[in-house]
Amino acid sequence: AIENYLDKTPGSKDFFSQAKEVMPGGVTANIKSFDPYPVIMKKGNGAYLYDLDGNEYIDYLLSYGALMHGHGHPEINKAIHNQIEEEGTSLFGTPHLLEVEMGKKIQELYPSMELLRYTNSGTEATLLANRMAYAYTGKNKIAKFEGHYHGGYDQVLLSVNPPIDEAGLPHKPNAVIESSGVDSYHQEHTIILPFNDLDATAEILSKRRDEIAAVVLEPIQGGFIPAEQSFMAGLRKVTEELDILLIFDEVKTGFRLGLGGAQSLYKIKPDITALGKVVGGGFPVGMIGGKKEVMMVSSPKASSDVFDSSQSLKSSAKEVLFHSGTYNGHPSILAAGLATIHHLEKEINHVFAITNQLKEGINKLFAKRGVAMQSIGLGSIFNVVITEQDKILNYRQLQQSNFRIRKEIDFRLLCEGIYTKPLNRYSLSTVHGKKEINRTLDAYDRVLTQVF
Ligand code: PMP
Repeated sequence: AIENYLDKTPGSKDFFSQAKEVMPGGVTANIKSFDPYPVIMKKGNGAYLYDLDGNEYIDYLLSYGALMHGHGHPEINKAIHNQIEEEGTSLFGTPHLLEVEMGKKIQELYPSMELLRYTNSGTEATLLANRMAYAYTGKNKIAKFEGHYHGGYDQVLLSVNPPIDEAGLPHKPNAVIESSGVDSYHQEHTIILPFNDLDATAEILSKRRDEIAAVVLEPIQGGFIPAEQSFMAGLRKVTEELDILLIFDEVKTGFRLGLGGAQSLYKIKPDITALGKVVGGGFPVGMIGGKKEVMMVSSPKASSDVFDSSQSLKSSAKEVLFHSGTYNGHPSILAAGLATIHHLEKEINHVFAITNQLKEGINKLFAKRGVAMQSIGLGSIFNVVITEQDKILNYRQLQQSNFRIRKEIDFRLLCEGIYTKPLNRYSLSTVHGKKEINRTLDAYDRVLTQVF
């Protein structure tokens, strides 16, 4: 497979050596690198990507799930152009019409988001959610699940992809720092929980209820391992009883699992929700919303609350939660996001149907060869997990699946013009259709014949 890759992508190889002269490791996010070098894309159009050597790929990475309508969708392009030409390039430094139009749409689709704020990324959204939980509860720790990713800041860069020590299996997650430069302070302040294990989770939470402000989770771990319904319902109940807020990180699941995200599927109302990715229409965005009384911790105080009769600052005036950002609620991005939602309202059934066809097709190709595997996921994202286990419910079980073969399959698929980063999950878009699915399944069939 490597020889084939090297033969097909000499332009990427050359370019990557130049990229290394500009960026450490040649990339601007470590996840974008893989051996021997990443294929370098030049152009995207609909469901397709084109690399520097002119090779065509069907895109299943879709910018890590952000592109719900593929590359350069005409309705999104039109919305951005209209916004820029008619209203100007950017920001006015005031609240503006699209912040409210988008906000009302979000409130309609995510009723738990009674009030919301805009940020520039999913990372910022979850960061702000944690701060709100601290401010609202007066406690100073968060609890997160092993294997769950919430962005690139210190407080949550723990136990996302920790090495698994055999002796520790199956239910002893501890706080493992994921990055150099993260202070060990965070190991004390971020508590790690076992996903889909309600008893163990409830035990940890009730022991530390006076310290834990919130539990934050990906309702569908990594976008593809669903929380079990009973786990989710139990977690909602336990957190309520213990005065711990429940934060849904729906950066990946929002709009990809259904217009109303995981919370509408599970019929569970979190206290705070973080959104991102799809809702930016391909541009940087994040949103955080939740219960009115929680969100109000960030509201500026009325001047009567801030100044006393002699116009001096009252001592409590400093206590409002700080939230700022030059580009928050950027009009061009909200225009793109609204166009994305409107188009998705028409096309969501198509993308779900086409995703199921691909999943079922892949399942059949493995079954034909007697190889045990599962296509795991809901809505428009799934992952192919090669395993003999009955059910994958958490990070540790996933780690026991066969990554080596899966990686080889992805690599060979790349050579066949099917693009995802090796080992990544597959995301689909509304512009993927029968033609792309058939081409993908033909390629998968050839690749499985080479591998097994
Ligand atoms: N939460 C989840 C569940 C995510 O998948 C991601 C991005 N992969 C983030 C947060 C961070 O979002 P961003 O990359 O926009 O900062």
